Amino acid sequence: MKEALYYEKRDDGRVKCSLCPHNCLIKEGSVGLCGVRKNEKGTLYTQNYARISSWGMDPIEKKPLYHFYPGSYIFSVGSIGCNFECRFCQNWQIAQCTDVTTMGVMPEELVKWAMERYGNIGIAFTYSEPLVWYEYVLETARLAKEKEFKTAVITNGFINKEPLEQLLPYVDAMNIDVKAYTDSFYKKHTKGRLAPVLETVELASKHCHVEVTNLIIPGLNDAEEETESLADWLAGINPDIPLHITRYFPNYKLDTPPTPLKTLEKAREIALQKLNYVYIGNVLGGSTTFCPNCGKPLVKRNGYVWNGGLKGRRCRDCGEEINIII
Ligand code: SF4
Repeated sequence: MKEALYYEKRDDGRVKCSLCPHNCLIKEGSVGLCGVRKNEKGTLYTQNYARISSWGMDPIEKKPLYHFYPGSYIFSVGSIGCNFECRFCQNWQIAQCTDVTTMGVMPEELVKWAMERYGNIGIAFTYSEPLVWYEYVLETARLAKEKEFKTAVITNGFINKEPLEQLLPYVDAMNIDVKAYTDSFYKKHTKGRLAPVLETVELASKHCHVEVTNLIIPGLNDAEEETESLADWLAGINPDIPLHITRYFPNYKLDTPPTPLKTLEKAREIALQKLNYVYIGNVLGGSTTFCPNCGKPLVKRNGYVWNGGLKGRRCRDCGEEINIII
């Protein structure tokens, strides 16, 4: 265990964690809502520091990051814990359960380990929620940057501004889940809130490459007006931010049937009225990048990634500048 950052001690032995907007007040011997920050005798410790539950070399497209070194591989690692309790969690075995077998790997070792992997561009913090693995992610990302390695954070975006600002200089790319565009969805189905997530997208997009994922769940967040509002808001930040509209499948505590394909296609059509790059995830197809100016395919992803429609960061056909890092 390592002493946590971002907390204050109270006279009565409790501690107040200010890493994320839950701002948990934790009594002695207890953990915060994320399950991995524990008050031991008036000191807050991070219990998942240097603990790795899952790792592997993944295609960058799997994060999903479509506009960040397309066709590359990134060493991906996850720990345990999450500050949301989504009923439809896709990684609940490590995000919602903390009694999981993990391996101890210090930041220096992890960077070395990642650098030894052939063809690897960097480290992606993913699988569980990286923001409640904060101290480890911060230290490792700092070291990775020193080695000119790329770092990516795949996250629910639920973090307070100050810790986010401290982390961002060491992050190259983020995929941030905007799980819905209503606060009622967040409160009812995640135990979080919408506004802090939107603030994270806004702030992060000023510092690093950002893509957004929106998992559409039938009957819960699939209203066309909701997709329109989400796209409208995202376009207000930057219409070039890629949006991944993703198909839901039953998981964890939710057994609603999978999202119909026509719902996803309609959502994409709506979002494309405001945004330049909209994809459908968790389905076959829907992953090609088209030039927003001339409509020609720029990058095709069908297992193999073809980026022959690009010339540098421009459309080979019409010369339009594309928000893509290659
Ligand atoms: S990081 Fe964990 S302990 Fe800290 S405020 Fe968030 S949920 Fe609570």
